[in-house]
Amino acid sequence: MPTTAFTITGCTIVNPDSGIAVPGSLSVSGGLVGTPPGSEQAILDGTGLFAIPGLIDMHVHATSDPHGRTASTWSEISTTTMTLSAVDNLATALNNGVTTVRDLGAPRDVGYGIRAAWSRDLFVGARPFVAGPAITAVGGHGSWLGVESEGPASIGALVRRNAASGSDVIKLMMRSAARRMELRPEELREAVAEAHWLDIPVAVHANFSERSIDVAVQAGCDTLEHGFVISDATADAMSKQGTALCSTSVALHSIVEQPQRWIRQGGKELVDRAVQQFPEARRSFERALGAGVTVIAGTDAGVSGVAFDALPRELKTMVEWGATPQQALVAATSAAAQALRHPELGTLQPGTPADIVLLRANPLTDISACAAVEAVIQRGRVIRLDSPSRLYGLEMYPAPGTVLPPRTR
Ligand SMILES: [Zn+2]
Repeated sequence: MPTTAFTITGCTIVNPDSGIAVPGSLSVSGGLVGTPPGSEQAILDGTGLFAIPGLIDMHVHATSDPHGRTASTWSEISTTTMTLSAVDNLATALNNGVTTVRDLGAPRDVGYGIRAAWSRDLFVGARPFVAGPAITAVGGHGSWLGVESEGPASIGALVRRNAASGSDVIKLMMRSAARRMELRPEELREAVAEAHWLDIPVAVHANFSERSIDVAVQAGCDTLEHGFVISDATADAMSKQGTALCSTSVALHSIVEQPQRWIRQGGKELVDRAVQQFPEARRSFERALGAGVTVIAGTDAGVSGVAFDALPRELKTMVEWGATPQQALVAATSAAAQALRHPELGTLQPGTPADIVLLRANPLTDISACAAVEAVIQRGRVIRLDSPSRLYGLEMYPAPGTVLPPRTR
């Protein structure tokens, strides 16, 4: 029976919100941080390591295979295949220090099913929050991973259906680069009003179209996904009303760096638009930062070429695009947790779930440290530890990707 109470000794504890790192130790008990340890004196020697809250990727598609192994188009992928992909992807995320993800669109009931399986401890992987089916216009972007709205009069029912099925967030799709079909402003407003009435946050996909971005922000969405062309006025509006930006620059890098792969998947129009607007995406991010918009970290992992180990690169790009290392760390921890409406994640405060990542360098100095993972702890279980000699009287939990792990307690 693995010990569930232990102390991480000799580490440096990084507080993303204050930007302060102090030497100390962290106790873990009953899956929580900082509650008094039990009689067992198990230790994880954290000497030389930096403890941060488990990272959160706010934009993934866990049911999709980023390596293109499962099928060439979404419509060919079975529910079973999607489930296998999700276990593989959530395992990769967890192994790389991403203890929580927000899944923004999966067909039918697949997303809910994966969340239920995770909740029942049927596999070892990142904690999924799920949108369920994305809501799009008839024939619109993402219709393969969602449901189609027939207009302002019917969209509220789609929101309610998702809410009844248990969506943690409502995902709405505005136009993509390659398609002109999109929700109308009044349709979007109706959907946002319905979701907010039900007290569920709203994420809106709007990438290369300034009009789509403006409409999404004016409708009062909670998180703007992609947002590669935000005007000064819209950045100000986002800042005032508290709309966060989930920038997904890794996905944009993937399109620009692997154009042939993306032409096959998304069409030439999308690739041309991405290449042409790449510099604008950076300026857009800079304008948002300058206006004081809350930035949250998302990768769009699951799309072609963006695997579930991509979050450190997203954070690195944020810093290259003008964020401080602290802002990037906040984007993947406390700000992300706030946007999930689960502020108990993304912090190492006593009494919160013990999702802890131990890094070999200080991310406040160099954000690349987020890729130098030495250990991952999720819900108080040691999931990954590169130097087993650091453990005293403590057993590892089964590795990420393990299906039907033994019950611990
Ligand atoms: Zn996406």
